[in-house]
Amino acid sequence: MGIAVGDAIGLPYEGMSPRRIHRLAKFPLQHGLLPGRGMVSDDTDHAIFVSQALIAGKGDVNQFRRALAWRLRFWLLCLPAGVGFATLRSIMRLWLGLSNSGVYSAGNGPCMRSGMIGAILAHDVQARRVHVQASTMMTHTDPKAFAGAMAIAEVVARIVNGQWPGKPQLDELIAVLTDISPDADWQLAVTRINAACKAPDSMLAAQQYFGGQHGVSGYALHTVPFALIAWYQHYGDYRATIEAVVRAGGDTDTVAAIAGAMAGASVGLPGIPAEWRSGLADCPHSGSYLTALGRRICKHDETVSLRFSFLLFPRNMLFLVIVLLHGLRRLLPPY
Ligand SMILES: [Mg+2]
Repeated sequence: MGIAVGDAIGLPYEGMSPRRIHRLAKFPLQHGLLPGRGMVSDDTDHAIFVSQALIAGKGDVNQFRRALAWRLRFWLLCLPAGVGFATLRSIMRLWLGLSNSGVYSAGNGPCMRSGMIGAILAHDVQARRVHVQASTMMTHTDPKAFAGAMAIAEVVARIVNGQWPGKPQLDELIAVLTDISPDADWQLAVTRINAACKAPDSMLAAQQYFGGQHGVSGYALHTVPFALIAWYQHYGDYRATIEAVVRAGGDTDTVAAIAGAMAGASVGLPGIPAEWRSGLADCPHSGSYLTALGRRICKHDETVSLRFSFLLFPRNMLFLVIVLLHGLRRLLPPY
C-alpha cells in the first residue's frame, strides 16, 4: 500500500520540473489523476508481480524467476502505458526465449520492485540477496541497478524485522548502504546521501546532488538516493515523505513509490493518509487486492489469487486515454 499510494500520488506530476510543479500542484496534495481519485502505474504492477512470484516460488529462486518472467511477459502483452526502455527490451528478450534477458542499464526498474522482496524475506539476508539479484538481472545487468535495488530491500527488511524499530542512527544507515556494493559510483552516492542528511536543508542538498532543475531522473543512483533521503528526513511522516518527493519533480511516481515502500513500512497502514488509500481507483490492482495480497503474504488467507489478471489489458486502454488527456492538460498554463 505504501508503494501503490506513492505511485498514484506522484503519477500526475511525472516528468515535470520542480518549477512547474511549484506552480501547478496544490499542497497538501490530493489524488490528481482523476478528480479526487488516483491510479497506479508500472511501479505497483511490478511490486505485485514480485510478491506473487515470491509466494509462488516458495523460497526456490528458479521458480521465483520463472513466475516473475511469465508475469512480465503477460504484462507487456497488456500494453502498459509506462514501461522503461530497458524493461521493454528485456521482456522482448524473454519472449524470444533468451535466458540472459537483462540489458546493460542502470534504470530504476529493479528498485521499484525490490521493496517487496525486503519485506517478504525480511528474516533471511541470504535469500533476500539471491532474489533481488534474480529480479534485477532479469531486466537490468548494470551493477548500479543491483546496488540501488538491494539498498531498498535492506532498509525495508530492517524496518519489517524489527532491527530498526524507530529511526536508525545516520551512521547505522550509512554502514548498511556502504556494505551493499563496492561499485565506485554507488560509494560516491552513499557519501552524498550522508552529506545531504547532515546538511541544514537536507531536501535542498538532495535536490542539488540527485535532482537538478529537471527533477530526479530514472537513473537508479539518482532515484534511490533521493528516495532514501526523503524517507530518512521525514521519518514517520508518510505524507511529508511523498510530498517532498513530488516537489522535487522528475520521475515522481517511481521515486514516490520507492520512498513510499520505506515510509509505508515505517508507519504501517494507519500511517498512510486514509483519503489517499481510499482514493485508489484501479482494477485489477485495486486497493482491496493489495490488502488481500498482504493477507496472503502474512499467511492469513491462502485463498487470495496469485494469478496474472488479463483485465489489465482493457484497464490499460482506459489508462492510456486518461494519460493522453493529462498530456493535453499539461500544454495549458500555468507554465
Ligand atoms: Mg511509473
